Amino acid sequence: VPDLLTHALAGYLVRAAPGGLRPGASRPGSRGALPRPVLWFVAATLLPDVAAQGLYTLPAIARRVFHLHPPAWMDNGAYVFHTPLAYALLCGFLTLLAPIGWRRRLFPALVGGGWLHLALDFLQRHLGPAPYHPLFPLSNWAWEAGWFWTETSLWAVPVLAAAALWVARRRPRL
Ligand SMILES: [Zn+2]
Repeated sequence: VPDLLTHALAGYLVRAAPGGLRPGASRPGSRGALPRPVLWFVAATLLPDVAAQGLYTLPAIARRVFHLHPPAWMDNGAYVFHTPLAYALLCGFLTLLAPIGWRRRLFPALVGGGWLHLALDFLQRHLGPAPYHPLFPLSNWAWEAGWFWTETSLWAVPVLAAAALWVARRRPRL
């Protein structure tokens, strides 16, 4: 994880870039379309970690709180949502839960935000033997670019936050 704030700010700026804005319900003739698509995209920049880490905690809760014994594979199973293809499948499932009018824009917003998250993650270098698996489940190939350490992205937060504030003041309806 380059920190989640960096992910969200980067997502906001990428989606708010000229040509990246897709007004939803506010545009005439698009009644029932996805409202605030930029916010969905930004929220999706957090989704790979939320899905992976959130599910990761379920076996731990089952053991500690309910004294159950879930199988060991569940501990790492949630990590699959931190790979691009499985994450896209998760987005497809979530999109099916949304109103029909939202789906055409919701799916690319969720996938785009999450893939931006994963792209930033793949650029980093982190401790531990196993880096990321960009092609899972097609291949177990493991890779990371190693351009910066996880915490290095924090240095970009002031610049990204200032840019996001500047954009938000100029285009408050995003
Ligand atoms: Zn991540």
